[in-house]
Amino acid sequence: MRCPFCGNIDTQVKDSRPAEDHVSIRRRRFCPACGGRFTTYERVQLRDLVVIKTSGRREDFDRDKLERSIRISMQKRPVDPERIDQMISGIVRRLESMGETDIPSKVIGEIVMETLARIDTVAYVRFASVYKNFQAADDFDKFVSELRPDVAPET
Ligand SMILES: [Zn+2]
Repeated sequence: MRCPFCGNIDTQVKDSRPAEDHVSIRRRRFCPACGGRFTTYERVQLRDLVVIKTSGRREDFDRDKLERSIRISMQKRPVDPERIDQMISGIVRRLESMGETDIPSKVIGEIVMETLARIDTVAYVRFASVYKNFQAADDFDKFVSELRPDVAPET
C-alpha cells in the first residue's frame, strides 16, 4: 500500500483488527521512509456499483464520497463514530442488494436521507437542504463542498 504522505510503496502493517461488527478489517500502517501513519479498511465488495446521474452520465460509485457527505452532515452531532460507520456500511449494503448495478443518484440521495432521518434530525436537515438545492446532487463534489454545517439552517 502506497504511503499517502511520501509515495513510498513499501509500508508496513502494524495492527489489524475487525471493525464494524466484522464487516471490515481496520489496518494501521506505518511508512518507514517518512514515519507517516495511516489507516486502511478492507471490505468485501459484492459488486461494482455505477451511479447514473440525472444528466445520464455514469460514474463508478465512490464509497469515500458518500462517507464524506455523511460525515460532514454529522459534524458535531452527538452520534458515536462507530454508529456512523455502521450506518454507511448499511447504506452500501442496501445499494449492493438492490439487484441492479446501475443506481440513479436520486435513489442514493433518498436512501441517505431516509437513513439520516432515523438517526439524527439535524444531520438530516443539513443533508436534505443542500441535496434539494442541487437537483439530485448531480455534481457531487460541489454538493459536498456546499454541505457544511455553517451554511445549513439551524434547527
Ligand atoms: Zn511515507
